[in-house]
Amino acid sequence: MPPYQPKAITRSDPRRVLIEWTDGRRSEFSAADLRRVCPCAQCVSETTGVRMHDPATVPDDLEQQGLQLVGNYAISMRFSDGHGTGIFTFDALRALDERAD
Ligand SMILES: [Zn+2]
Repeated sequence: MPPYQPKAITRSDPRRVLIEWTDGRRSEFSAADLRRVCPCAQCVSETTGVRMHDPATVPDDLEQQGLQLVGNYAISMRFSDGHGTGIFTFDALRALDERAD
């Protein structure tokens, strides 16, 4: 199974990120959804894997900006709460969307 790859990433709405995958699936994430699952070391303990950042503190109207590709496997962005260290892999984004089905 090849890694999931996006065909197009739409970020024009600061509250949303849309990904169209090469297999045709379309995934829509709110910026708040992504902030709540931020996998960075500030949000999740590297030693225990426990989430230290409380997802309940993220407002639904959180915005993203400066979305960038990281290599060919992930994206990063800066959130309007000032946080910007998370790297969201395509595999994790795809899994997040499929869990929401
Ligand atoms: Zn984080």
